[in-house]
Amino acid sequence: MSRSDSLPVIGSPRAAGSDQLPHVLDHAADLEGFLAAAGQPAWRAGAIRRWLHGRRAGSFAAMTDLPRDLREHLTAAFRIWTTTIAARQQAPDGTEKLLLELADGERIECVLLRDGERRTVCISSQVGCGMGCVFCASGLDGVIRNLSSGEIVEQLLRLAALLPAEERLSHVVVMGMGEPLANLDRLLPALDVARDAEGLGISPRRITISTVGLPPAIDRLAASGAGYNLAVSLHAAADDLRTRLVPVNKTIGLEAVMAAADRYWEASGRRLTFEYVLLGGVNDTRDDAGRLAELLGGRAALLNVIPYNRVAGMPWQEPSRRAVAEFLGVLERAGVNVQVRRRKGAEIDAACGQLRRLAARDHDA
Ligand code: SAH
Repeated sequence: MSRSDSLPVIGSPRAAGSDQLPHVLDHAADLEGFLAAAGQPAWRAGAIRRWLHGRRAGSFAAMTDLPRDLREHLTAAFRIWTTTIAARQQAPDGTEKLLLELADGERIECVLLRDGERRTVCISSQVGCGMGCVFCASGLDGVIRNLSSGEIVEQLLRLAALLPAEERLSHVVVMGMGEPLANLDRLLPALDVARDAEGLGISPRRITISTVGLPPAIDRLAASGAGYNLAVSLHAAADDLRTRLVPVNKTIGLEAVMAAADRYWEASGRRLTFEYVLLGGVNDTRDDAGRLAELLGGRAALLNVIPYNRVAGMPWQEPSRRAVAEFLGVLERAGVNVQVRRRKGAEIDAACGQLRRLAARDHDA
């Protein structure tokens, strides 16, 4: 059993001024109940959330249109921040990456990508990852714990705070550290805040959850009815190779993954995305591309091909330019809607789990 199961359940606020205070960003933090007990009108909950999400207030004291005693009361009852920024890096293309230190000293990464009008954030769902994909830096030490809903929302707010006042976050991708569908119970309330008009007001159509492909959790996500985009990481179109690269495939299998993706598409009406990391000499031949085209069949899906981002100490190579071009050529000729994901922020190791590992190395040294 992972340490995630010992995460405290956040209920009604306690008065003590310690780091045990409930996180005001957590879905379960009972702001309305607190206000009722304090004899305050319920509409103030919306005002407080607008301060937090829209006006990016970093403290209750900054919420200047609230009565002073209420601000003090809130300060004594709730935390706004549980994280600190341990490192911040900016790439020449405008990509910014934050390494956040959590209250228990664990560290996670999140990234802001600037692309034209788009302000996309890439957030983490767990500390580490239990899926064990052999080429990914996040899973090297297994899963350490799930993030709380508040810790997930806090990434959004920390990244939003990097923007000038007139800019807003436009897109969210849950493609940072961790397997989001292994932490769905905490992810969904966090994404409620992201799409809430009183929260960050980001349309669910602009929120994408990337998964290694866990069928029961895909079905639960479909049943939630939230209408997020789903991206399924394939990396191979045959079970033997996929199981080598994505060990959890052993007990799931591609057929079940594709069937769950199809069910998600039927339930949500959202176009599916599939991801395929190209590893030089491993899964990048024309035959691999042919099998992939066959697997995708006539699906109206988008295929994102991602040339591998090298991870120090790992044996995997990026594919050659020629291999990428040939791979794409086969897929295009087969009528697959394919795009190569541009590498943003490569200069700042903005690929999964890399900054955290570098920082951990510096930390340990
Ligand atoms: N657990 C989720 C989210 C992981 S990160 C999932 O598996 O989809 C999002 C994508 O980045 C995944 O497709 C993952 O396989 C890929 N990825 C991980 N490490 C990478 C690397 N070093 N270079 C390129 N892509 C990588």
